Amino acid sequence: MSAKILDGKFVRDQILAELKPRVERLKHTHRPPGLAVVLVGHDPASEIYVRNKIKACGELGIYSEKVTPPDTITTPDLLGIIEGLNQRSEIDGILVQMPLPPQVDKQRILVSVHPDKDVDGFHPMNLGNLVANSPGPRACTPAGIMEMLRRYEIPIAGQNAVVVGRSDIVGKPMALMLLHQNATVTICHSKTADLPAECRRADILVAAMGRPAFLTEYFIKPGATVIDVGMNRKSDGKLIGDVDPEAMQGLAGAYTPVPGGVGPLTIAMLMSNTVHAAEKHLCSA
Ligand code: NAP
Repeated sequence: MSAKILDGKFVRDQILAELKPRVERLKHTHRPPGLAVVLVGHDPASEIYVRNKIKACGELGIYSEKVTPPDTITTPDLLGIIEGLNQRSEIDGILVQMPLPPQVDKQRILVSVHPDKDVDGFHPMNLGNLVANSPGPRACTPAGIMEMLRRYEIPIAGQNAVVVGRSDIVGKPMALMLLHQNATVTICHSKTADLPAECRRADILVAAMGRPAFLTEYFIKPGATVIDVGMNRKSDGKLIGDVDPEAMQGLAGAYTPVPGGVGPLTIAMLMSNTVHAAEKHLCSA
């Protein structure tokens, strides 16, 4: 039997179609949701990400604003910009595009975004909400993966889930979200003793390493659901994930392709977090 492709564009389109009437309702009763994206400097990859986020806002009817301080900005000046955005009632979400230049204190910046406007789910208060399984914005990439698993009716409870990677933006929140859905979760990283053996126990394998095609057939249990978060650029400019595509196609029961798998979901969940923040703000206003 051939592996089922988990189509990120299909799920993204579903999520956006469901958001559309909510945006329309907000527009007609109050005002459109508003997202401010802060892009420091001119990192080419960040410029593409931000352009795509702004474009998605436009298509959905979300008001968006791009703030572009120079890459020489100091931490206090950037804190000032964010404080200004925190104060503005028509801005529901604030996203600070990473990476920031080395002179800027990233942690102070992340903490300065008001938790209610933290549509990336990176504020320590929202990380605490995630740990406690309390409501609050969730990191977009792992939240998108959970949406994908739900919509394709992939069973999670009681399954062995292995997450390779322990970053704050993907690996750790991913592991917690799977745990809250009652998976038995293992988190692997660069010091894991026997990575192939750990991965081969996975009914759900999430690769978030940033290592091109690192996970080969020796890492995949036949029939597993394989979620490939990796986005690695090859010398010919093409994208490749963290999992060898042939191994995934040959062994997995279901898998996310790269591109077209996890990638499209991240922006959809950013839109979802922004609409949710606007509903919350306008409800409490
Ligand atoms: P990151 O911060 O660099 O973290 C990578 C993680 O992988 C670390 O925890 C590291 O372990 C682990 N790792 C690296 N090499 C390993 C090895 N040989 N064996 C076991 N573990 C290893 O990366 P990230 O920000 O989480 O991103 C991961 C990938 O996802 C990247 O390709 C990124 O571009 C992609 N990504 C995609 C999306 C999307 O929307 N599709 C969003 C975010 C990220 P240590 O902690 O021990 O160093």
